[in-house]
Amino acid sequence: MNRVINFGAGPATLPLEILEQAQAELLDWRGTGMSIMELGHRTEIFTEYLHETEQKLRELLTIPNNYRILFLHGGARAQFAMVPQNLLANKHGADYLDIGIWSQKAIAEAQLFCDVNIVASSKDNNYTSIPTPDTWQLKPTAAYFHYTSNETINGIECTFIPEVGDVPIVVDMTSDILSMPIDVSRFGLIYASAQKNIGIAGLAVVIIREDLLARSSTATTVPSLYNYAIQAEQHSLYNTPASFAIYIASLMFAWLQRQGGLTKIAELNQRKATKLYHAIDHSNGFYRNDIAKPYRSKMNVVFNMQTTQLEQQFLAAATAANLVALKGHRELGGLRASIYNAMPMSSVDTLIDFMKVFQQKHS
Ligand SMILES: *Cc1c(COP(=O)(O)O)cnc(C)c1O
Repeated sequence: MNRVINFGAGPATLPLEILEQAQAELLDWRGTGMSIMELGHRTEIFTEYLHETEQKLRELLTIPNNYRILFLHGGARAQFAMVPQNLLANKHGADYLDIGIWSQKAIAEAQLFCDVNIVASSKDNNYTSIPTPDTWQLKPTAAYFHYTSNETINGIECTFIPEVGDVPIVVDMTSDILSMPIDVSRFGLIYASAQKNIGIAGLAVVIIREDLLARSSTATTVPSLYNYAIQAEQHSLYNTPASFAIYIASLMFAWLQRQGGLTKIAELNQRKATKLYHAIDHSNGFYRNDIAKPYRSKMNVVFNMQTTQLEQQFLAAATAANLVALKGHRELGGLRASIYNAMPMSSVDTLIDFMKVFQQKHS
């Protein structure tokens, strides 16, 4: 067996012990004589398991009782549409902060359903910084305020929770959920697809404040599968859920608890990112990261070299050394190391050592 070190942004690497547990339980899950993939989703054992999984997430994130947890299909992209479809109710517009490519995609989708007011955009500085909140053009009549807490492609992170008055905050936390503790009570709705920091593709986790469910009830044109109120009422079992993806998420929640919870993992994530940015910043310009320092992502470290040719050589040499998926997103180019929860410090060290050796050979 030759496991590589996978810096992919998503689907992303999983802790080895989770893969091994899934392998060990594949043929006979909890004495059912079958895998969880084959188990009916309306069986008592599965519905209890779903509840247990929810509880684990509730504990990890200290989710207050007036929030519901939903396990839905369609990844984060489905949420780009579901959020406006469900939350507009009798309003016509919503506020969006534009700090990168995922913000833009969420905005484009929302524009199918409502008037989008872009409160501020960092497009003018190539998404290397976050516009200061005192310049944001917020609308108090907005149905909700939407932002992306971590821009996976651009490698920029909104390190603060915006202050937007009484307007509910909706956040796309796909690439930094569970990377640190958060105050859930500041949000109206949190969503994340699973294949970055929760588990595998095919699942989105939605955490929604109960009072917002009433908006879905009035939004009668929302298809049932995409209706938050119906999904909450049916405990995410309106149709067959992504049971295997939920299972991997559940293993991940238990793994996080074993690591000491989110405070511990946040410390480790901070140390991993600090070390990697330090290596980039102390390479005499051989490697470069242009993001304003306070907003550098702790999950996705993007960097460039002097020429694309050198970047190609870097990628080839890295792959030969078993360090894979370091290529930047196709819309942006450059290089990117995604270092989610599951990426151990030792692998970050291996990457840094590789970068130093590559630099010595090529400068
Ligand atoms: C990956 C990603 C998405 C898209 O997720 P899908 O599961 O492919 O729909 C949306 N937002 C952010 C911040 C992402 O990183």
